[in-house]
Amino acid sequence: MTKQVSQEGTGAPLDIATRFACDVCGRDALGVTSSSLGAISFAYCRDCATCGAEPYLPTVAMVAMQEDVADTGAILDTFAPWFHEVLFVSVLRAGKTAAEFWADVIAVRAMDALRVSGGEP
Ligand SMILES: [Zn+2]
Repeated sequence: MTKQVSQEGTGAPLDIATRFACDVCGRDALGVTSSSLGAISFAYCRDCATCGAEPYLPTVAMVAMQEDVADTGAILDTFAPWFHEVLFVSVLRAGKTAAEFWADVIAVRAMDALRVSGGEP
């Protein structure tokens, strides 16, 4: 069974198979696949998929929710080496600096609702 999708109001076919953006950089994506951040999927272009970059804001949120990240934003040795590479390329692809990334992590950690533990509802 084929799902028919058309542009609203026109009935013209909508080509959804080839018209979606990379969630990391916004260029045309090759497809959607699982993320290294966890049980979630994103759209990736060839370059972002090749270098292992992840979308910036989900990366910030994922790091901010880790209990073993100090509130100072310091990377702790408990992160696997491969994850340091994911952070590095994701921050670079987002056009951010490491200082900006950690400032964003600290800002997210300040929101009690996103804390894994110790936060007030
Ligand atoms: Zn991309």
